[in-house]
Amino acid sequence: MQYPEWIWHNGGIKPWAEANTHVMSHGLHYGSSVFEGIRAYATPGGSAIFRLQDHTRRLFASARIYDMAIPYTPDELDAACHEVVRRNGLRQAYLRPVAWRGLGGFGLSAETPIDVAVASWHMGPYLGDGALTEGIDACVSSWQRFAPNTIPAGAKAGGNYLSGQLVAREARRLGFGEGIALASTGLLSEGAGENLFLVFDGALHTTPVSAALLNGITRDSIIRLARDAGIAVVERDLPREYLYLCDELFMCGTAAEITPIRSVDGRQVGAGRAGPVTLRLQELFFGLFDGRTPDRHGWLEPLRD
Ligand code: PMP
Repeated sequence: MQYPEWIWHNGGIKPWAEANTHVMSHGLHYGSSVFEGIRAYATPGGSAIFRLQDHTRRLFASARIYDMAIPYTPDELDAACHEVVRRNGLRQAYLRPVAWRGLGGFGLSAETPIDVAVASWHMGPYLGDGALTEGIDACVSSWQRFAPNTIPAGAKAGGNYLSGQLVAREARRLGFGEGIALASTGLLSEGAGENLFLVFDGALHTTPVSAALLNGITRDSIIRLARDAGIAVVERDLPREYLYLCDELFMCGTAAEITPIRSVDGRQVGAGRAGPVTLRLQELFFGLFDGRTPDRHGWLEPLRD
């Protein structure tokens, strides 16, 4: 990864190399951080950040779950996101706001200061070149997601990603592009860092938030784009074997965008390539950024000067 020149850290822009935290920071020891992943796209009207305010709202919701008082307002963090993209001269970017319990006291319930940073850099397809067009081979992980009464999946918190790492690293070790996890109920949950959509008879089926998943903003965008286009969407519990029976399957997320899945556990899904519903949704989603899809929900926020 080529690092950019500038980063926003605790209130202002500074050189990338100077955004440091103490090794005794609470977040490093106990996973007590909350973060976001956001994309900015190069549109015909200039760079625009996709659903920035929704991501910032989720960041504050994650912080609230863990009693972390972020010492900036949502507007200040939105401004930091704009500033870090602009200062790095990026047209297309991935943004990473992160807030963590810093240095102060000792012990799990210590009231530490909350440190905040926003990084941004150029990023292509998350699951590899060709993933968006050719699709990926996925597997069901031997690791399950955490039960809902253990760790809240609705918070995008650093500690949750120990689960994601086990799922993703096992999948890569076994030669798969990504892993899919079951919930503690045994029903389908989500990918290591992506939500799931299955297509049956032209309708979209996606797992519900009660299935230990992060309520993805891309998932929500897809649901709304699909409904606008007259495609039915059902949120429902889904058993594992439906992965093998569906006509089409894809994962989605800010990083993964809309990535078709061509096989699961070595079994071909549908025709083994992106099907018509997946292609239509990719067209609608990526169309937001090249002007083919009207931005009727006001999701694109032009980069500020
Ligand atoms: N689930 C998990 C576990 C994730 O990490 C992500 C990526 N943030 C998603 C789903 C998709 O969420 P979003 O579309 O908001 O990026």
